[in-house]
Amino acid sequence: MDSSIKRAIIMQHYQKPFHKGLKEDSNYVKIKANNESCIDNLDLIVKFNGDIIEDICFDGEACAISTSSTSIMIHELIGKTKKEALEFIENYENMINEKEYNEELLGECIVYDDIYKQPNRKKCALLSFLEIKKLLTKS
Ligand code: ZN
Repeated sequence: MDSSIKRAIIMQHYQKPFHKGLKEDSNYVKIKANNESCIDNLDLIVKFNGDIIEDICFDGEACAISTSSTSIMIHELIGKTKKEALEFIENYENMINEKEYNEELLGECIVYDDIYKQPNRKKCALLSFLEIKKLLTKS
């Protein structure tokens, strides 16, 4: 993918994030995503329907990489089973950490395929994914 297209997708998700804004609903599990090496400080809420991720929303302050990757992640994860979501996240982690990954499973997350060139941004790109992973592996 052309780097100007990648940048455009990232900026679009940064300026108009998907599912930004929390809901007061006790059916949601609330988790926090903080990155002390950046300004990233997000709250995420997740709603399950049995084994399926029915909804995720987020809010808070974060940089362009963190905000956009959370927005794209939410778009990709809604409707997936816990197992599918874990596979998706692990595949994404592999890409960020320069390991082997399956491009076809990434969806729009492919826009971060050269983030390894900016090591200090890797944490931003992984932040929400790793918090969701923690939630999925304990529930
Ligand atoms: Zn950040």
